[in-house]
Amino acid sequence: MNLALISHPSCQAHRMGAHHPECPERLYAIQDRLVASGMEMLVTHYDAPAATIEQLTRVHDADYVQRIFAAAPTGTDPLALVWLDGDTALNCHTLEAAQHAAGAAILAVDLVLSDRHHAAFCAVRPPGHHAGRRTSGGFCLFNNLAVGAAHALAVHGLERIGIVDFDVHHGDGTEDIFSGEARVLLCSSFQHPFYPGTGADSTAPNVINVPLPRLTDGAAFRAAVGAAWLARLDAFAPQLLMISAGFDGHLEDDMAHFNLHTADFGWLTREIHLLARKHCQERVVSCLEGGYALSALGRSVATHVDELIGQV
Ligand SMILES: [Zn+2]
Repeated sequence: MNLALISHPSCQAHRMGAHHPECPERLYAIQDRLVASGMEMLVTHYDAPAATIEQLTRVHDADYVQRIFAAAPTGTDPLALVWLDGDTALNCHTLEAAQHAAGAAILAVDLVLSDRHHAAFCAVRPPGHHAGRRTSGGFCLFNNLAVGAAHALAVHGLERIGIVDFDVHHGDGTEDIFSGEARVLLCSSFQHPFYPGTGADSTAPNVINVPLPRLTDGAAFRAAVGAAWLARLDAFAPQLLMISAGFDGHLEDDMAHFNLHTADFGWLTREIHLLARKHCQERVVSCLEGGYALSALGRSVATHVDELIGQV
């Protein structure tokens, strides 16, 4: 069975200025690499629907969602920006992109849990894992993966979802949303100390954070997350595995200071796929988070997708 690749044209129209690293070219780089690697033949493309207010408010406060809707610029000039903080802005296409980015995770969950695909990758932006119940930040507005996970819990009645966030930044928004939620086991690795500065002292029993120092290389990364996560995820016996797939820990990515290689992302994806094969008919939903060095991002996503499809 091939992989569902979910995106939406609005995700390429969201732009936060000429020099912002979280740029539409990221999605082009991914597309290019999937074509060049011959993997296009192994994926089925879907247009993401827009998440509804009801779906968004499962994880965000209603007044926060309203605030984001109200902040969106109403004109048609894509260069006119409204800044929410020093990193995160909306142009006239952003609100639509954010709704469809969250909707991608909903569709991914529906496709995977209805056995139309064993796995799905959401090639969407804005990313989501820094968006908390009532906070935007770090390029994120709505927490796409969390919206998908909440849909799986509320509509599909799942009781155990494993989430792995290997972005180089702590998934503070996802932790804000699911901390203490016993139906979710949340695993996040991140450079520490570093933006957003959280996660090293988390105590919730369903959160397994792995803070790692700058210059962490592949061997140290594999040893640390392998020891912290894999047995716990295995014992949890997830009915669905979800991934916040951030590739900004790559050696070539100057957004942070990890020295990971494409093969390290491939290794972790393979381990997740093996767990999914054992516990949940290979059901994996992955959502793009960070990754700003365009060539490294394209190569890393191609490896990630290859392992999600992979014959394990
Ligand atoms: Zn990141």
